[in-house]
Amino acid sequence: MKENSISRVGFVSLGCPKATVDSEHILSRLRAEGYLISGSYQDADLVVVNTCGFIDSAVEESLDAIGEALAENGKVIVTGCLGAKGDTVKLAHPAVLAVTGPHAADEVMEAVHRHLPKPHDPFADLVPPQGIRLTPKHFAYVKISEGCNHRCTFCIIPSLRGDLVSRPVGDVMQEAQSLVNAGVRELLVISQDTSAYGVDVKYRTGFWGGKPLKSRMTELAAAMGDLRTPDGERAWVRLHYVYPYPHVDEVIPLMAQGSILPYLDIPFQHANQRILKLMKRPASSENVLARIRQWREVCPDLTLRSTFIVGFPGETEAEFAELLNFLEEAQLDRVGAFAYSPVEGAVANALAGHVPPELQQERLERLMLLQQGISEQRLKRKIGTTIRVLVDEVDEEGAVARSSADAPEIDGVVFIDNGSQLKAGDFVDVKITDSDLHDLWAEAVR
Ligand code: SF4
Repeated sequence: MKENSISRVGFVSLGCPKATVDSEHILSRLRAEGYLISGSYQDADLVVVNTCGFIDSAVEESLDAIGEALAENGKVIVTGCLGAKGDTVKLAHPAVLAVTGPHAADEVMEAVHRHLPKPHDPFADLVPPQGIRLTPKHFAYVKISEGCNHRCTFCIIPSLRGDLVSRPVGDVMQEAQSLVNAGVRELLVISQDTSAYGVDVKYRTGFWGGKPLKSRMTELAAAMGDLRTPDGERAWVRLHYVYPYPHVDEVIPLMAQGSILPYLDIPFQHANQRILKLMKRPASSENVLARIRQWREVCPDLTLRSTFIVGFPGETEAEFAELLNFLEEAQLDRVGAFAYSPVEGAVANALAGHVPPELQQERLERLMLLQQGISEQRLKRKIGTTIRVLVDEVDEEGAVARSSADAPEIDGVVFIDNGSQLKAGDFVDVKITDSDLHDLWAEAVR
């Protein structure tokens, strides 16, 4: 133990925003119990590594991080998705002290207690009510549920994280309120399947602010949209990972009236019915196109982000062409596309007709080229308009901000040339002056 005898825990957090939220919960509990969080391996008494195990490169990165922590510190506890993958961690690194799966704060705390005794009375070292966060002060991820009831054939998340378990709606709202009170301006709602929120508890009615509130995406989004920052601004609420259920239509009016951001992150994955069936996803692209048209009629400012898998086993040239046609028609704002890659344990691995990697790559490039043109055109149309943005970073050359169309890290940004006087976390109105494939340039409106 280090000289002042307060136990110090080092923390390495890898993986997606859901893993980040798990890390934040564990860090908050460690601080609440009086442990200090150490910024270096040498200064820590032990290290917790929160891993990702989704694709092969993430597995490798996680195993490397564990190896580094063992070499630099020697006492390592592993948690997260890779921990749920059988003996992978123990086989590669038999010296780790303990291995748990994702969403396992209790088990991680038990392992920490076993190897590094609790330093303090919990009441002596209280954590701020919003907990410890790894994101900048002005935005935060709020995880509303864990697990998933779908069984998409390319995905192993349900086997890693189990079936859907929704958090009580009052707890979610309390966390959202605490975050906003502490200076958070944008709440990013995440889960494996946001639109399924509450299905497992039959949309049970909970309580928030002394009033009944249903555990259901629409009601939760509306309640979050009512939250105000300490200076009276409406907090931004952005919905991620919205599976295309019919009731998604219900949140569009909330977006049109400005309660929540007009932004929908809705993974369609493909457009061809046969491929969608092989993926075990909802299968009707005409229906999707009609819904998109309808959503845009109700909310013309809607930004649509989606993800697609290219070169799924058995995908023919004609089926891929159908996906390109769909993209032409749908004119989505933001698209992430990935070449299918087999994930250990996924049902799709057993499907016939795996597409050769070169062909997958060629299709991926064709798709991205098409989408770049669409994105460029859609951004160009914004030149001359005035929009509200949230400032992320400022330096002497200006500010970098995001609009309602830009989620942190995955979408574009808005560069504000005359923004060097602004501060991170400011809401500001800007006039768009230029655009490229993904980003916008603007002047702050005085
Ligand atoms: S909905 Fe998402 S998390 Fe659930 S099985 Fe499908 S891809 Fe995986």
